[in-house]
Amino acid sequence: SLVGSEMCIRDSTVARLGGDEFAILINQVDSIDHVTDLAAHLLSALEHPLSIHDHKFYLMGSIGVAIYPHDAQDDETLISCADAAMYQAKAMGRNQFSFYEPSLTDSAHEHLSLEQDLRHALVNKELTTFYQPQVNPITGEIVGIEALARWNHPSRGLTSPNTFIEIAEEIGLIDDLGAIITEQACIQLKHWHDIGANNVRMAINVSGRQLTDQVVEQLKWIVSNAGISPDNVDFELTESYLMQNAEQSKRLLTSLRDSGFHIAIDDFGIGYSSLAYLKRLPIDKLKIDRMLIQDIAHDPNDEAICRAVIALGHSLGLTIVAEGVESLRQQEFLAREGCDILQGFKFGKPMPATEFERLLFAA
Ligand code: C2E
Ligand code: MG
Ligand code: MG
Repeated sequence: SLVGSEMCIRDSTVARLGGDEFAILINQVDSIDHVTDLAAHLLSALEHPLSIHDHKFYLMGSIGVAIYPHDAQDDETLISCADAAMYQAKAMGRNQFSFYEPSLTDSAHEHLSLEQDLRHALVNKELTTFYQPQVNPITGEIVGIEALARWNHPSRGLTSPNTFIEIAEEIGLIDDLGAIITEQACIQLKHWHDIGANNVRMAINVSGRQLTDQVVEQLKWIVSNAGISPDNVDFELTESYLMQNAEQSKRLLTSLRDSGFHIAIDDFGIGYSSLAYLKRLPIDKLKIDRMLIQDIAHDPNDEAICRAVIALGHSLGLTIVAEGVESLRQQEFLAREGCDILQGFKFGKPMPATEFERLLFAA
């Protein structure tokens, strides 16, 4: 059935060019991955045989993709590029797709293989959690930990979340991934509490896509099942997501907060949210994005923005965390401005649990 694809091509124009040739014109392509997924989806939809009067008919397709304005600037050339790409796809064998630009075909296959691998990763327990310290700006004492997902890919090695979180969101695995990381982080925190680090908190990233009633209940359950009080857990959500979905987020964040969890806004200061707007959301913490921290001591504008965020955040009763602190000058500036918590390579990179434990009990 083409039902799934219909979702993706709803705003597009579909035409029969003649014979067995069809064209789909997609407007507003956000990313090449979107096109890749659509092409793969169409081909797999074609794989299902059609039944007509007890006969099964098997169809095959070859898809060629051309992109405006990358490949061509006018409609005629664009179609002939797509046509050439389709012949490349045919030459590759049956049921294939190809981009007009060869390197895009390679990255499309890479993307699809990552999708496949990620499905296996969850089953094969290839996901693990790294931990990064959050410290008091003056004493340097570890007051919190951020849990960051890592993927031990069988052939790529240790893989960054920037490569796979978005894919997990796209293919509907983010809830499972979030559950795995939350569970690992809470079991680990329980262990560290038990062996003496009683006051340390755990920050866990939550994708906006996970904000559904069901997932929120599941997260609460995982935390309490690990023997951790919600009061020791921060859930970090990105600014961009909250701005797009403020009303819906509000109810679920309130539910988390009513259970005792703390809510932090991640990557704050690079989107377009106003503090006045965020004030209406149930939040406890703001994490100033690394982009604003990195030019402290070089760019007076960034210093002014950090200073303003700290002051305004404080006046709203929020705790301010600075991300990506790498130098002593940044640390000194932020300490002087009254920033509450610092996180960055200056105090430790994200690291495996065993290594973190040594750092935590070093003093
Ligand atoms: P984030 O939550 O903003 O995490 C901070 C990122 O900044 C981490 O990247 C960390 O390694 C990096 N970082 C920390 N200090 C420094 C520094 O001093 N300098 C520099 N250059 N970088 C620093 P990482 O671990 O690659 O994670 C990237 C993003 O992936 C995270 O950004 C978060 O949005 C997302 N992510 C990670 N784990 C999860 C997860 O379990 N669930 C969800 N939904 N998202 C996750
Ligand atoms: Mg974060
Ligand atoms: Mg961040």
